[in-house]
Amino acid sequence: MLTDSQGREIVNLRVSVTDRCNLRCSYCLPEEHVEWLPRREILTFEEIERFVRIVGTLGVRKLRITGGEPLLRKDLPVLVERLVKIPAIEDVGMTTNGVGLEKLAGPLRKAGLRRLNVSLDTLDRELFRRLARRDALATVLAGLATAAREGFRPIKINAVITRDKNLEEMIPLARMAREKGFILRFIEYMPIGRGDDWSDRVVVSNAEALRILGKIAPLEPIPEPDGTGPAKRYRWADGKGEIGLIGSVTEPFCDHCNRVRITAEGKLRTCLFSVKEHDVRRLLRGGAPDAKIAEFVVNAVARKEPGHKIGKDDFQKPSRTMSSIGG
Ligand code: SAM
Repeated sequence: MLTDSQGREIVNLRVSVTDRCNLRCSYCLPEEHVEWLPRREILTFEEIERFVRIVGTLGVRKLRITGGEPLLRKDLPVLVERLVKIPAIEDVGMTTNGVGLEKLAGPLRKAGLRRLNVSLDTLDRELFRRLARRDALATVLAGLATAAREGFRPIKINAVITRDKNLEEMIPLARMAREKGFILRFIEYMPIGRGDDWSDRVVVSNAEALRILGKIAPLEPIPEPDGTGPAKRYRWADGKGEIGLIGSVTEPFCDHCNRVRITAEGKLRTCLFSVKEHDVRRLLRGGAPDAKIAEFVVNAVARKEPGHKIGKDDFQKPSRTMSSIGG
């Protein structure tokens, strides 16, 4: 089993399938001159599948495919089909910016994917263009509509709100999500990536988000018996939908964090904010047997960081962006 020194059991793996992205969200990537990994450095489908099978034997049950923008990975439905068939894996989700969903929602659904998180920070075309540095709002909304038609359930919308950029977007996003039956989740802005404007002043806390959203209709907490997810869940008292608040900064969930990540080039990260990575690709490509790779993962997980240290004196901002780590 994968248990760390704090007694946390790891059941959740985020798999980055590419570091490339077709948006340039200002808090994540620079506007130009982004250097992508050469193709030969990216794990192949065979390597990803083998790694997932191995960690499946160690207790990983849930996968989230991410990136970069995962929909940019060629033949992604083929990989999904292979991953959903792995017996240990009970749940496979994907986080995407939605730009490629019009084309890919159907094939991904047929491949066996059920759950989608779509990142969307505004419903205003001009603001979207400024935040993501691409004029793609209409494409994302069309992609969301296609995904809903194809039967993805649930569809969650992930929004990063900052006080100085898109605070006024919370209510329109919430109204849209209520109307369309999406679960809206607000993720606190974290000090990671290429945005150099992070300060606790621009972070919109869970508490503030609750006050703002409560203006639409009263919200009531949804009891979480196992409490292992990152989101605090609330439902609208009028019965029209649900929201989630992910308070990575003001209400960290490190104590019950049950996840690790593998980057597109095969580095295992035991925390989003890790400063140390564990090179799994070297073993995968170096002829190591499964047992050796399993032992390597067990040892890495045993040393999982107790917490992310945001706001503490010894906090170190990771040198990599969310896009290159796998957000
Ligand atoms: N391209 C996919 C997408 O847009 O969902 C997957 C990768 S993206 C890096 C994953 C998520 O990370 C997005 O929801 C994005 O908003 C979020 N993200 C990136 N930088 C962040 C930051 N500094 N703080 C909070 N969330 C961030």
